[in-house]
Amino acid sequence: MEQKLVTAFHVAADASIPLTKRPKHQYRDRPRVPLSVHNTEIEWTLGHQYLGVWLDHHLTFQQHICHTTDRICPRLRIMRAMTGTEGGADLRVLKMYYFQAIRSIVDYAAPVLATTQPSLIEKLEKQQNFALRLMLGAPQWAKLCNLRAEAKITQLSHRIKNISLNLLAEKAIHPRHTTIVCRVFQSLAQDERLFQKKTWARKTAHNIQAIKAVAAFKRLRQDPPHPDYSRAAPWESSPIKISVSPLTDKKSSLPNAELARQARNSLAAGRINGADTYYTDVSVDPISHRAAAAFHHHEATGSTAADGSPSANWYLAVTDNTPFPLPNTLPRYITTRLHRLRLGYHCLAELNHTLPIDCTHCQTPTNTPLLHYISDCERTARFLVRDPTTPITLKLTPMDQLVEMVRKYPPPR
Ligand SMILES: [Zn+2]
Repeated sequence: MEQKLVTAFHVAADASIPLTKRPKHQYRDRPRVPLSVHNTEIEWTLGHQYLGVWLDHHLTFQQHICHTTDRICPRLRIMRAMTGTEGGADLRVLKMYYFQAIRSIVDYAAPVLATTQPSLIEKLEKQQNFALRLMLGAPQWAKLCNLRAEAKITQLSHRIKNISLNLLAEKAIHPRHTTIVCRVFQSLAQDERLFQKKTWARKTAHNIQAIKAVAAFKRLRQDPPHPDYSRAAPWESSPIKISVSPLTDKKSSLPNAELARQARNSLAAGRINGADTYYTDVSVDPISHRAAAAFHHHEATGSTAADGSPSANWYLAVTDNTPFPLPNTLPRYITTRLHRLRLGYHCLAELNHTLPIDCTHCQTPTNTPLLHYISDCERTARFLVRDPTTPITLKLTPMDQLVEMVRKYPPPR
């Protein structure tokens, strides 16, 4: 496809450009004869929007990313307006807004963005980082991998590759898309030192190699039919009869006995003598309670948190990378304070080198304000179940006591 597009641009080139007044190198890629349709000359252009994606001359998608960041900016401003400390939207609402109004724009073009330069994706990543800080009310210097783990949001570069490869895996088992899949297979077999042209297939093959999924990808084929199978003639009756009887109410609202009764009735209604009966049920993820999760991808949110830095280790010790069961009723200023404790952070005085500083609650001078707040401060003592290892204290203390503590004595800034 790439080659065709580039050719299309070449053909569309050079309308009404005086050839003699420009340096020679500017015309290398441009056609000598302008293309015209119904006697209208088609203007030469270096970029064009097609199905919402900006295609540029060399398919770098730089123009598309500029366009995307411009679209995201005002949406981030709306998100910021939603985050008042008193009565502002909570993490759940902000996350939903982010997914639906912002990340969906990036997701849409993921298959083409997967082949762009990482430096271009970095621009989108910065916008996601800004959104993460808004969601969690975290300071500018909070560790990014901690923010992503706390909000359970994966890095955009990972997500873009995930979407693109999942799409390709889907195509690999569908006979209609054999050409596109064959080209990726071809690129996988080629030696990168010899084939250096950066085509879509080559970059996609590189992404597959990067996640060590070559073997799994090569196994993706359409299942062959059974040796005895032959396509039924149009006049023959269908070899399988499926009967579906819906429940009288939502599955979750019916008691088990009623569910069993309805299942037996449905079975009796569909039974035909001499026929086999197959049972099926949707699969439910026991943790997220989402139904029908055919592929569960371990996204990099959890594993990146343990990168060895002090604040990453702190986060791991406090949370074990498990979700934070926060009640929905808490005001935002409480939840942001709780998130900050879990994230672990340097206080302003530490960054400005103005230590020691007096604790704002008990006036004791300290060189480590956050540690003092959790392990030594006499004011917070009655709320906390203290442990010699400071982060464990946060894990042992019940939620309601933590809430009371941050309400009465805010953590140091
Ligand atoms: Zn104190």
